[in-house]
Amino acid sequence: MNKPILLSTPHMGDRELELVKEAFETNWIAPVGPHVDAFEEEFCQVTNARYGVAVSSGTAALHLALQLVGVEAGDEVFCSTLTFIASANPIVYLGAKPVFIDSDRNSWNMNPELLAEALDRRAKKGKLPKAVVLVHLYGQSADIDPILQACNQYDIPLIEDAAEALGANYKGRSLGTFGRIGIYSFNGNKIITTSGGGMLVCEDLELVEKARFLATQARDRAPHYQHSEIGYNYRLSNILAGIGRGQLAVLNERVAARRRNFEIYYQTLKNLPGIEFMPEANYGYATRWLTCITIDSEAFGTNREQLRLALIEQQIESRPVWKPLHMQPIFAECECLGGAVAEDLFARGLCLPSGSNLTDEDLEIVISQIQIVHYQSVRNKPKLLNSSLVVI
Ligand SMILES: *Cc1c(COP(=O)(O)O)cnc(C)c1O
Repeated sequence: MNKPILLSTPHMGDRELELVKEAFETNWIAPVGPHVDAFEEEFCQVTNARYGVAVSSGTAALHLALQLVGVEAGDEVFCSTLTFIASANPIVYLGAKPVFIDSDRNSWNMNPELLAEALDRRAKKGKLPKAVVLVHLYGQSADIDPILQACNQYDIPLIEDAAEALGANYKGRSLGTFGRIGIYSFNGNKIITTSGGGMLVCEDLELVEKARFLATQARDRAPHYQHSEIGYNYRLSNILAGIGRGQLAVLNERVAARRRNFEIYYQTLKNLPGIEFMPEANYGYATRWLTCITIDSEAFGTNREQLRLALIEQQIESRPVWKPLHMQPIFAECECLGGAVAEDLFARGLCLPSGSNLTDEDLEIVISQIQIVHYQSVRNKPKLLNSSLVVI
């Protein structure tokens, strides 16, 4: 049996352990510490963000972001539908309601025209959303300019969920730095990881200070423990920030490795009938966090799910593209503007093993298995047809 080939696993560099050791040696184990400050600073250097706040997860960062722009119970927040549920959960934590927006085919991300039309309609009704959560899926930028323009027209804060898109850019500028607030994730499967963690970035010092305040239990300035607001325990630990600093140092290499994975899949599989690759929108630079394909079952010979199951049998982990949030049972009552594109990408989309630590041999195994599944299914088809003819 082959060793399992997984979708995306942590990939440590050379310095992480040394930095963690430094935290031990100086006893900066908790709560915050110099690695946290340095991680925030270095993160800002890499992304050109003004200020960063390191927190315990991307979800926590998004929760803070929504609260900082004033989302409250009863409000509505527009959100991309084709994404992981963590993009929308914090909307619900605050008692607000998500309204989902479909993707466009060029980027798989929020369709700017749908957003602009929806905001115009809502403005006429006097029922504008309190914020827009824009997701940059699988390391690819959404078309930010028209989206920002639509938001600015009605003074609606844009929050960028760049959890999957650290290292990517839009017209040369880092994702996450366009909106009022940007958030990132360092979960184990992301492009770099602290085992778990997140970052919030923002230009506005007042909001950043408020984020730090809320992330540390909203302690008033007093020697005794005094609180005038409800806060959270959301700060990143100094140990994990040490891992983050080591990971940041190899970010460019990680992006290059993931783009290389994509290129190898693309060059070897692009001519196989019925396979298409997630396009790279021409306005940006994608990290190819995950290599995503869509399967046309007629031409390929079998559908996405059968391909996925065939790969599992060979110990190869692949995953359907995110199930759109408007199709999730928990969001069944939520409004969705459009939805057919996201539904189609979900029905036919598959994410292939994409870790920056995959070997050429791993890639060859995945590629040859996909080829085998294709050739076997097209070969079997006419046979089945013949035999049924014989029976008749
Ligand atoms: C991973 C992810 C998150 C959440 O990040 P965590 O650090 O796991 O909380 C949010 N949004 C998207 C799009 C993600 O992929």
